[in-house]
Amino acid sequence: MLAIILPIIAVIIGFTIALIFKPVVNNSIKLLLSFSGAFLLSVIIFEFLPEVYNENTTNIGIYIMAGLLVQILLEFGSKGAEHGHMHHQDQGSFPFLLFVSLCLHSIIEGFPIADNQDLLYGVIIHKIPIAIIISAFLFNSKMSNIKSGIFLVLFGLMTPIGAFLKSQLIFLQEYSTYVNAFVVGVLLHVSTTILFESSKDHQFNASKFTVILLGIIIAYFL
Ligand SMILES: [Zn+2]
Ligand SMILES: [Zn+2]
Repeated sequence: MLAIILPIIAVIIGFTIALIFKPVVNNSIKLLLSFSGAFLLSVIIFEFLPEVYNENTTNIGIYIMAGLLVQILLEFGSKGAEHGHMHHQDQGSFPFLLFVSLCLHSIIEGFPIADNQDLLYGVIIHKIPIAIIISAFLFNSKMSNIKSGIFLVLFGLMTPIGAFLKSQLIFLQEYSTYVNAFVVGVLLHVSTTILFESSKDHQFNASKFTVILLGIIIAYFL
C-alpha cells in the first residue's frame, strides 16, 4: 500500500516545491539531487544488490547489465530527465518521446518497491528532486496547463502502476530475481549518473560532498 501512495506523495511534494519556489534549477535543488543519488546508490549497494546475488541464480549479472543498457537507451528518449537533466528542446508540443521514456523508467523502478522497504525510500527520495525539475520544466515550457497537468499526473502514477503490476502479474513474480536484477541495472545507471554529473567540473565542493556522505551514512543505518 505504501508503495502505491508514497511515490504519488513524492511527486506532489516535488510539484509543490516547484510551484512555491518557482525555481530555476538552483543550487539547493542540485544538492538535493546529489543527496538522492548517493542515497539511492547506497541502498542498492548495501541492500538490493547483495539480495539479488544471494538468490544464487546463474547469470544474474547479465540481467543487471541488461537493465543498465535499457536505461542508456531510455535516456536517448528522455534526454536524462530521470537523473535531473532537461536537455529537451521545448517546442510547445507535448514531448511524447520524453514522456514515454520517463514513464517506462518509472514503471520499471516501481516493480520491486513493494517488497523492499529501503528501496522504496531510495526511489521516493530520488523522485522528489526529479519531480521538482520536471515541474519547473513544465512551468517554463510553452505547453498548455492542461497538457502539463496530464504529463505530471500520468508521470506520478507510473511508479505505483509498476508496483501494482508486480503484485498482480504472476509472470513478474515467478521471475522476481531476474526482474530485480534488471532494476538494479537501471537504478545503478541512474544513481551513478546523478553523482557523476553533480561534479562535472571536478571542483571540490564541500556542501556537495557533505550531502553525498550524508546520503551514504543514512542509507547504511536504515
Ligand atoms: Zn544528463
Ligand atoms: Zn527513477
